[in-house]
Amino acid sequence: MPPALSISQCIDLHIHSTASDGSFSISQIIEAARNLGLRAISITDHDTLEGSLEALGHFQSSSPEILSGIELSADFPSGTMHILGYMIRVDDSAFLNMLERIQGARSERNLEIVKKLQALGINLEYDEVIEASGGGQVGRPHFARVLISRGVVQSAEEAFSKYLRKGKPGYADRYRLKPAEAIEAISHAGGVPVLAHPFTLEAESQGALEEIVVELKANGLKGIEVYCPDPNPEDRTKYERLAWRYGLLMTGGTDFHGAAKPDVHLGVGKGDLRIPYSLVENLKACRS
Ligand code: AMP
Ligand code: FE
Ligand code: FE
Ligand code: ZN
Repeated sequence: MPPALSISQCIDLHIHSTASDGSFSISQIIEAARNLGLRAISITDHDTLEGSLEALGHFQSSSPEILSGIELSADFPSGTMHILGYMIRVDDSAFLNMLERIQGARSERNLEIVKKLQALGINLEYDEVIEASGGGQVGRPHFARVLISRGVVQSAEEAFSKYLRKGKPGYADRYRLKPAEAIEAISHAGGVPVLAHPFTLEAESQGALEEIVVELKANGLKGIEVYCPDPNPEDRTKYERLAWRYGLLMTGGTDFHGAAKPDVHLGVGKGDLRIPYSLVENLKACRS
């Protein structure tokens, strides 16, 4: 067996903060990354650059190295499609305007969820959910937290499987960008668009996944998140093969959310993930 990669040469390019649905603030994430000894990180909050802005504003000059990041939800018939964007210009006005539109649609969706839960006899007010979000963007995990604190459910998993997941009685849909729009928006803002955690697409076969990747690449996709806490770790080889075949970059991150996903740890995922810094060098080379 080759020697394990030293953590000081490792990275985590998929992290959520309290700016979206993570439970760690930016300074807590930076402190945890420093304690662990990670070399580079990216804060990739859902549909907002606020987390990246704060990280770059306060911690840019010290270690770990910080890359700006975001995770956009895209409209896709099966499963969930998320497109990560790295090294975006965080002051790009067209990009920020687009995020405002998406955030407006999210707020409308959240009010729909409140109505649906109330109609089910759950006595919950939107203000409580806003409070649970700690001032960041409100998402379904914050609804889950309120449902837990009310004793309606015992865990986030139960909140999603009983109420919040697609097809469940508290679910409300929201406007999402088309995949090509998400990719183009990231590219126009100077960023590198990457397909996040391919397994959440729920593709029926490797061939089906390949077709999706080919179409995304035709739309300007530049990379695939190969290193992630995948439920089937053996699938990593399949993602690697796709990256090689289609000339896509490989990236990696844990999708750390703190308390919302307690079994996933910063930098190391479920414990054994080690993501090499060379991926950051490739990302930088792709943009320059
Ligand atoms: P939203 O963006 O508000 O629609 O919320 C989606 C977020 O909910 C995802 O990014 C995950 O963090 C979280 N999530 C989705 N499914 C589950 C689940 N089954 N259990 C816990 N959290 C989940
Ligand atoms: Fe999330
Ligand atoms: Fe995601
Ligand atoms: Zn994520």
